[in-house]
Amino acid sequence: MPSPDAAALLTHPTAAFDAAWAADVRRRSPAERARWLDAADAATRVSLAARRNAVEVYRALADDVADDLGRDDARADARLRLLWEKDGRRDAIVARLAARATASRDPALAALAEVVAAECVAEAQDHERAEELLVALLARHRGAGTDVELRCASSLAEVYRRQGRDYETLILARRTLALAEARDRADFRAMAAFRLVETLAELDEWEAHAPALALFAAAMAQVGERAGEPLWFVLWAHRAEVAVREGDVEAADRAGAELEARCRRAPIGGQAHEWIPSLLARVELAAGRLDAARARLDAITADRARRTDDALRSELLWAPAARRPDVERTVATELLARLEQPPAGTRAAGRVLRATRELVAHFAAPPADPDALRRAYDVAGAAILERMAQLDRALRMVPELSVAEPEDRRTLERSRARFQVEQAAVLDGVASVLARRLGGPRAPLPDFDRDGRYLRVCAWCRRVAMANGTWLPVGHYLPSRLPSRGGLHLSHGICPDCIPTIVLPPALV
Ligand SMILES: [Zn+2]
Repeated sequence: MPSPDAAALLTHPTAAFDAAWAADVRRRSPAERARWLDAADAATRVSLAARRNAVEVYRALADDVADDLGRDDARADARLRLLWEKDGRRDAIVARLAARATASRDPALAALAEVVAAECVAEAQDHERAEELLVALLARHRGAGTDVELRCASSLAEVYRRQGRDYETLILARRTLALAEARDRADFRAMAAFRLVETLAELDEWEAHAPALALFAAAMAQVGERAGEPLWFVLWAHRAEVAVREGDVEAADRAGAELEARCRRAPIGGQAHEWIPSLLARVELAAGRLDAARARLDAITADRARRTDDALRSELLWAPAARRPDVERTVATELLARLEQPPAGTRAAGRVLRATRELVAHFAAPPADPDALRRAYDVAGAAILERMAQLDRALRMVPELSVAEPEDRRTLERSRARFQVEQAAVLDGVASVLARRLGGPRAPLPDFDRDGRYLRVCAWCRRVAMANGTWLPVGHYLPSRLPSRGGLHLSHGICPDCIPTIVLPPALV
């Protein structure tokens, strides 16, 4: 690219500012590099496209930008703020800049740099360290009502969301929403509403989901059609999901059509590549269009083993509607085997519970499969225990709860009550499966290793086996003993105290 001026930054497509260009501009003389930066400064005041190009210049000349810290604070401040606010990337370049800026004499800039540095740690997948940093920062800035406090709350909510820690996400998202409201920040409000809606759906909290979805829609309307494309997808996906759930075929079709139109306009990759067709298959099913649903499922991937859990769930709904018990059994077995694996990444307990509820219904229907049924109950029971432990952990550890909205408290109470009911239902189910089998050979309880991830629960008295051979009520066991991260495995059986109370054939006692 020839000598720089603001005009060059206005007219070039951002793609022209690539790695080769960056390497080239870094090799130029200090005077020429300064001209590039001046041109970028001027471009930031012109248009969104020009601002994007300016960001590329700042990134290419990050060391020069950093060198300006302390020399010309106002200019460095403006550049860094633009870079951090308008560019979502949190890579090594941004981490280096943030590290330099934390030493800035301007306390506001230094504080912002600390948040950005923590965001870089989160981006590098070190969620535990990122959480530690952000919790400490939030403690320092709590109540200040500043942009830094807002950004801290928002980023911490995102760290929790990525870890599948739904209650913490809920509380921090609601806190972010209140701060964004106070500071009139439409971008943060939209992100917070997005996290709220996603989390409430994950938790199966549909009562709270409806008002949150309305909030999300209002926030997106303010952000505008041209920004936040992925968030628009999510908004319409939730509308489709809710319509399917409520059996509102017309609304489901409308949302489905909107999603497809958006896919055509802006093809998206990654996860969405599968969850959108999988969701559209459920829309077709809700409308009774079995062939169309099948076509959607076939379009995902021919290889069932490579489908996501969500795609398998859609197929599990399709099979009985299409009277294909063979497919139904194969898919149910595949899904159960997957749910028994330790969660890869952040498979949230809410999703596991939803899937196991469907699996239990499937394996309990004639011809019942008691072995698979018990395995499904084991997975469901583990998910419930993990959920209750998560709830307790959130209540104990998140200081934001002291300023929690009444809606959050109601949601937490509802969750707790529901999981207690579900836990009882699962244990009743296991007890009935076991009782039916007691006439035949008794399935040996699995050998548990002692890494703390395995729990044995008595289906009759609802107590948990301890390593020392005693049995304690589930409530005593929770929450401190559950692994804080990673999967929990559960197996339901009968404790020695309960065996005499059940009438067994003598040979089995
Ligand atoms: Zn017992």
